[in-house]
Amino acid sequence: MAAPSNSFTTVVPVASIPYYRGFDSPTGSLTVTESSLVDRFGRSIHYLRISVTDRCDFRCVYCMSEDMTFLPREQLLTLEEIDQIAAAFIELGVDRIRITGGEPLVRRNIVELFRELGRHDGLRDLTLTTNGSQLARYARDLREAGVTRVNISLDTLRVDRFKAMTRVGDLGKTLQGIDAAIEAGFERVKLNSVILKGHNHDEVVDLVDFAVERGIDISFIEEMPLGDNGDHSVADVHYSSQQIREQLAERYSVQPSAERTGGPARYWRIDGYPGTRIGFISPHSHNFCDDCNRVRLTSEGLLLLCLGQEHSVDLRHVVRAWPGDRERLKQAIVDAMQIKPKGHEFDLKSNEVLVRHMNMTGG
Ligand code: SAM
Ligand code: SF4
Repeated sequence: MAAPSNSFTTVVPVASIPYYRGFDSPTGSLTVTESSLVDRFGRSIHYLRISVTDRCDFRCVYCMSEDMTFLPREQLLTLEEIDQIAAAFIELGVDRIRITGGEPLVRRNIVELFRELGRHDGLRDLTLTTNGSQLARYARDLREAGVTRVNISLDTLRVDRFKAMTRVGDLGKTLQGIDAAIEAGFERVKLNSVILKGHNHDEVVDLVDFAVERGIDISFIEEMPLGDNGDHSVADVHYSSQQIREQLAERYSVQPSAERTGGPARYWRIDGYPGTRIGFISPHSHNFCDDCNRVRLTSEGLLLLCLGQEHSVDLRHVVRAWPGDRERLKQAIVDAMQIKPKGHEFDLKSNEVLVRHMNMTGG
């Protein structure tokens, strides 16, 4: 079905297939290079984020509501199916995979998945985002399995606040997880902090002090309107990256840096502290869509083309309807690039939130 046009470029007619969601089936054709996925806007996709479960042992106020209904287990991709899909992406040129969730480390036998993923030639970066609650137990095994970098969510250093923001979490366990990650020798350990006005905005400097003392990175994230959180309006608690930088400037001398680590964060360096970079993920104040290089696989096997839109392709249907058919799976992935939207449309002035919570999407 592919019509070769030269040795490096193939023009692929996009089939009208029944597993597209959130838009009309695409028509026309798209261009793929032999080693990369390229969308209609010329963006090369080489980064896949995989949510391995929607379940979590926390209920963070910006991520979930208190009463969550999770997917029945049979709707989740099996670990084998996740590995098959990851393998297809790697064959199409994806060289970075981040495992996320929900909380990835609550999924049974998750280390096995990391071991399988770590065996794929062509995968340059295998990373994990975790709340750290189980990391003390798993850090060493994950490093041995080939995990290169770990992001650990930490929004506050105060025990009572940690309990309030996660609704159930135990700060001590996450701190032990951070220590274990540093001890295990990952290439980089980074903290992720979602800053909300009136919740934790007064801890920005303390969080950077904590990162500096340990020689690890930290990224500050503006909250995105995903799912009803049952706690606050996103606009009411919005605290911008610029406000964070102004606070930091009172204590540190920070300079913008051109460095990127493959994700949406923009980095700043601190004079005198080379071990710590400060990242800013600013969906509201600095749209990161123009150079988006990523797509996401949800725990039920939907390939989401954009964090902030509903365009998706049901890859679980493909792997279950045509078991072992790698070429068909790759074709579905190639076709999906045609419907990757130009960008998210998060709008603080609108009260609208996407129905999908972050634990479905995989942050
Ligand atoms: N459970 C893991 C964790 O907390 O790190 C992985 C999944 S979590 C959904 C991934 C990241 O998304 C976390 O750093 C979390 O802080 C962030 N996150 C969750 N909800 C968010 C939201 N509404 N806006 C921005 N970031 C969010
Ligand atoms: Fe769980 Fe992570 Fe969402 Fe918090 S941000 S509820 S730890 S998935």
